[in-house]
Amino acid sequence: MSTPEQELRERARELLEGDEVDVVVGYGQGNRPDRTTPVFVTAAAAADQLVLNPFCRNDLAAWLTRKDLRAKFPRMAIVAKEPDIRAVVVLIQETQIDPGAVRVIGVRIDRPGDPDSPCTVLPQTTLDELQQHLRDDFQPRALTAEQLGAVEKLEQLPPAERWAYWRKQFDKCLRCYACRSGCPMCYCDQCIAQMNQPQWLDTSAHPLGNMAWNITRAFHLAGRCINCGECERVCPVDIPLMALNRFLARQVRDQFDFQAGYDVEEYQPFASWKPDDNEDFIL
Ligand code: SF4
Ligand code: SF4
Repeated sequence: MSTPEQELRERARELLEGDEVDVVVGYGQGNRPDRTTPVFVTAAAAADQLVLNPFCRNDLAAWLTRKDLRAKFPRMAIVAKEPDIRAVVVLIQETQIDPGAVRVIGVRIDRPGDPDSPCTVLPQTTLDELQQHLRDDFQPRALTAEQLGAVEKLEQLPPAERWAYWRKQFDKCLRCYACRSGCPMCYCDQCIAQMNQPQWLDTSAHPLGNMAWNITRAFHLAGRCINCGECERVCPVDIPLMALNRFLARQVRDQFDFQAGYDVEEYQPFASWKPDDNEDFIL
C-alpha cells in the first residue's frame, strides 16, 4: 500500500506523463527537517522531489498569478491544502487564472506544523469535485480556547481601547510586505502601498503610514481572504493579522451570507450588486 507522499508523486507523474500540465508546483524538502520549499517539477522522472508532511506550510496558490511562471508554464498544477483550494476558487472568480489551465492536487494536513499530524491526498481530482468537498466536509481550522478568549476579549474592549491596541501592534510593523508576498489574494502588479506617483501611503516604517498600510491591507482582503493564515505566520514581528482578517470575514458572512472560496459560480459581495442587498449603511 502506498503512502500519501507516494500517492502525491504518482498523481504528479500522471499529469506530466499525460501532457496535461507543463509544471507541477509542490513542496520539496527544505534546508531543515521542519521546513519545506516550493519546487517546480517539469518531468515525470523528477516527481520524487515532492514531499507531503505537516511542514508543507506556504500557500502555493500565490504562484498561480506569477506572470513569469505563467509565461514559461501556461498549464500549471499545484499541490493545494484545503484553504489553498479556496484561493484557487477566488482567483478564478476574479479572472486571474483560467480554470482550463490549472489542475489542483488537493491535500489535507490535519494539524499543520505538528510532526505527528496525519497528511492525506484528497481523492477528488476536478475543481468541481474539490469545491463540493469544501462545502460538504471541510471545517476551517478552529481557534484554540486561548486564541478565542483573546479575540473575544479584544472585541469587547471599548473602541478607544481597541484603537490603542491596534495602534501599538501596527507601530511594530517593519513594512517588509511579507504578509502581502505570501498572500495568494495579493496579486496586483503595482501595490498602492508602494506607489509614489501619486503617493497614497507613507512608505516608511512610520506609525501613520503603518496604520494606513495595515488598514488598507485588511479591507482589501475583506470578502476575499480565505483564512490560510500565511500573512500572520510570516509576519516577523508577530502582529495578530488573523484577528483582523477573521473579524472582517465574519462581518461579510453576517451581512452578505458569503464566505470566500467555496463556489466559483457565486457572486463576490464587493464585486457585484443584488436588489436585496442590505443597504442600511447608506446615509
Ligand atoms: S489575508 Fe492572510 S489569511 Fe487571508 S488569504 Fe491573505 S495570507 Fe491568507
Ligand atoms: S509582514 Fe508584518 S511587519 Fe511585514 S509588512 Fe506585514 S504586518 Fe508589517
